[in-house]
Amino acid sequence: MQFDLNQFLTKGTVPASREFAFDCDNQDFSGFRVAPPCTVHFEAVHRGDKAALKISLKGKVEAECARCLEPVVQAFEIEQGYLVGLDELQEEFCELPIVGRGLLDLNELARIEIELQTPTVLLCDELCKGLCPVCGKLRKLGCSCELQQADERLSVFEQLLS
Ligand SMILES: [Zn+2]
Ligand SMILES: [Zn+2]
Repeated sequence: MQFDLNQFLTKGTVPASREFAFDCDNQDFSGFRVAPPCTVHFEAVHRGDKAALKISLKGKVEAECARCLEPVVQAFEIEQGYLVGLDELQEEFCELPIVGRGLLDLNELARIEIELQTPTVLLCDELCKGLCPVCGKLRKLGCSCELQQADERLSVFEQLLS
């Protein structure tokens, strides 16, 4: 979905809004994916000779817990605002994803915001103990490795004493 920012700034006078579903099939995130449905709401109003934009996103990300690899689902609600003028649309380094002559790529803008606002490390639980480094089982399910290790340490200690 594209929004003609150039036209909005040069010819427009009335506020504009768009609502669409984020394209969950074509996504390129590092370490997680966005689960459908994810709705994007976009608003543009004139402020002086600039455009005040607002994007709101609601959805959830799916990932694997960074410690135990169990599935993690985390809901998000993102709201971000921008102020852009006509001169900025012609700049190569505009922070917004502009294509062609001032067309704002709304899906790409949504993608960038989700990427920025999602933590790089997702955990099933802040207190997740992860996997046992010895047997690879989930630590929360318990395994006997820790006990065995303690026994070994104890036996070394006993050997030293004897
Ligand atoms: Zn975990
Ligand atoms: Zn273990």
